[in-house]
Amino acid sequence: MSEVYDVIVIGSGPAGYPAAIRAGQNKLKVACIDEWKNTDGSFAFGGTCLNAGCIPSKALLESSELYQRAKDEFAVHGIKIGALELDLAAMQKRRASVVKVMSGGVAALFKANGVTGIQGHGRLLPGNRVLVTGPDGAEKTLEAKHVVLASGSVPVRLKNVPHDGKYIVDSWNALEFDSIPARLGVIGAGVIGLELGSVWRRLGSEVTVLEALPQFLPMTDGAIAKEAQRHFKKQGLDIKLGAKVSAATVAGGAVDVVYTDAQGEHTLTVDKLVVAVGRRPFTEGLLAEGTGVRLDERGFIEVDEHCRTGVPNVWAIGDVVRGPMLAHKGKEEGVMVADLIAGQFGEVNYKVIPSVIYTAPEIAWVGQTEEQVKAGGRPYKVGTFPFSASGRARAMEAAQGFAKVVSAKDDDEVLGVHVIGPMAGELIAEAVLAMEYSASTEDIQRTIHAHPTLSEAIHEAALAVDKKAIDGINR
Ligand code: FAD
Ligand code: NAD
Repeated sequence: MSEVYDVIVIGSGPAGYPAAIRAGQNKLKVACIDEWKNTDGSFAFGGTCLNAGCIPSKALLESSELYQRAKDEFAVHGIKIGALELDLAAMQKRRASVVKVMSGGVAALFKANGVTGIQGHGRLLPGNRVLVTGPDGAEKTLEAKHVVLASGSVPVRLKNVPHDGKYIVDSWNALEFDSIPARLGVIGAGVIGLELGSVWRRLGSEVTVLEALPQFLPMTDGAIAKEAQRHFKKQGLDIKLGAKVSAATVAGGAVDVVYTDAQGEHTLTVDKLVVAVGRRPFTEGLLAEGTGVRLDERGFIEVDEHCRTGVPNVWAIGDVVRGPMLAHKGKEEGVMVADLIAGQFGEVNYKVIPSVIYTAPEIAWVGQTEEQVKAGGRPYKVGTFPFSASGRARAMEAAQGFAKVVSAKDDDEVLGVHVIGPMAGELIAEAVLAMEYSASTEDIQRTIHAHPTLSEAIHEAALAVDKKAIDGINR
């Protein structure tokens, strides 16, 4: 007899594990299956985000930023440290231990919420059954009233840039380098390219980023992208726009990358080449013949706004479905689905999903860019506030960037908030909450912000929308 569950979740990344936990909280009998293997061969829950994405990258971003600040900024604070030394092995050991603690935390949360965690490959069979193949090859069939597919995504590979994991690598490999490449090439000036490019640049690599598009960070507000480009250039990230890579070959322990831009064809020689040109949904081995689950033309599992596939009681969430490939988007979908399965209310507000790029300065935004609002034709007003006028940012020696609020002229609705500056990723939470609660700009203006804090920048930018900023010059 096969085991029967109320809910089986395939995948324990930031979409799958919250779905399983919430299902457990909803008193449903739930199992979560994952096949993840770390580079040392160990099994772990937590998916890409915890093991090879968000968490290890943020650990290295933090360490490398501290190193860079110690090297370049401590003296300004009056701190002399003599000869500074970098211990990459210790830095990588810390990164690995942060990851281990976090993925171990998922196992502990499963236990606390009554979730059965299963190591193995899950394959959806027709009739809401799941075939599990364990690490030893043993198979068993589980049955469930509901199945949630959360199989995530994998890096896109380029045909003419053959991945070898040593010289031509993906983001996961680039998080685990055991030496600092003297010359690092990155294909793609997206989120991964900028974050990992920053890590290795701070640690001493000469970094060249080749971006196919002529525009830098096209998804961000134009003024923010312009400011970011200026800072990255100053930091020594050599970002080449409109650069189309035609070939990459490994020879003599280095990689020759051939690319063409407006100036013609060039060859760039680097010690390591990171390919960071996006991720694609992962469904290999997930769906047996006859399940009825449909993929769209780009390979995403087709779902409606509540993450229902066309097949009754089969749901799909996270990177494997449409929408931004972000951990917090997947998490909310997981929670929504588990609540809907339990007969409760569940919804994801796709209009209010924050984005953060964890560079220095950090970049964060929610809602529409000024360009999008303009294109939409709705009359709007804009307020900005520079961190150079923030007492807290000055005290932190981090007075770079600005906050920007875009609001509707007709009813004062907050349409978008964009921040480039210290802790932008934390600051954006206020704007997310404001937009989620349909706050007007005046609501933010009339909200007391503690002084001196970085959050005052959002307050002042909201005031500046109506030329009422106190600590900044109204333009
Ligand atoms: P995944 O995290 O990919 O998890 C899917 C899981 O399913 C995996 O564990 C996989 O082993 C398992 N699986 C797949 N198929 C099967 C099967 N058939 N049987 C059993 N198990 C299966 N997002 C952010 O929001 N913030 C960040 O700072 C951030 N940083 C990132 C940095 C990097 C370097 C990368 C690569 C990504 C980053 N992301 C970040 C994106 C984030 O990691 C993803 O959006 C998120 O992991 C998606 O969650 P998921 O649960 O849908 O899929
Ligand atoms: P991305 O979509 O952010 O950026 C890819 C970049 O590569 C784009 O600028 C694209 O124009 C460029 N590109 C594509 N093909 C190219 C080619 N042939 N040559 C040169 N450039 C090319 O993708 P990513 O940086 O790989 O990240 C993958 C996903 O992971 C993203 O969806 C992102 O949301 C997520 N992620 C999020 C965070 C975060 O939230 N801080 C961090 C890392 C990754």
